[in-house]
Amino acid sequence: MKGRTFIITGPSGVGKGTIIQELFARQPHLYFSVSATTRGPRPGEENGVHYHFISREQFDQWVREDAFLEHAEYVGNCYGTPKKFVDEAMDRGEDAILDIEVQGAQQVHQKRPDAVRIFIAPPSWTELEHRLTGRGTESAEKVRSRLARAKEEFRFAADYDYIVINNTVEEAAEEIRAIIRAEHCRPAQRMPQLMETL
Ligand code: 5GP
Repeated sequence: MKGRTFIITGPSGVGKGTIIQELFARQPHLYFSVSATTRGPRPGEENGVHYHFISREQFDQWVREDAFLEHAEYVGNCYGTPKKFVDEAMDRGEDAILDIEVQGAQQVHQKRPDAVRIFIAPPSWTELEHRLTGRGTESAEKVRSRLARAKEEFRFAADYDYIVINNTVEEAAEEIRAIIRAEHCRPAQRMPQLMETL
């Protein structure tokens, strides 16, 4: 069976990275789509693991070559999902996890309506502010832009297929795991398998 695409969106600072790590610890046969970005690496981020850190020129070149499944600008930097690796993973039967923001999610939804969209929300707005400020990796101005952007993103949450609230990392990861399992039980997934046995 071909793998499926799961889009995970959530405002900056909501804890997506930690939740995704926990998800991979629980369910190893997933493929994490490593995005390309023009932003510089944060401490601890590795090229090719967290992102492909590339120049603006290289990014524009990939856009021209149609190498991205989707791409978008986020608070002054460009981000994009390399199409080839996602498709190869799905052909191997692995589910692909895309950690992308709302504009990218809309693009993927238009191109591939069967992609499942999951929105991760913080338990409260104050909590999000705390987490974003406490991270200490961005300037006060960048934090403000990210908070403003987060407020805009909330408006899109209702269009997603699922909303997961990050009360605890364990619960959130478990809910995503449950969503992935349930999506594999849909008739469109199960019927072809059953038909083969007739
Ligand atoms: P950060 O700079 O905090 O790593 O990411 C900023 C935002 O960009 C996050 O919301 C993240 O989900 C999103 N993002 C990361 N990679 C991609 C991508 O390939 N495409 C799009 N559209 N958004 C991305």
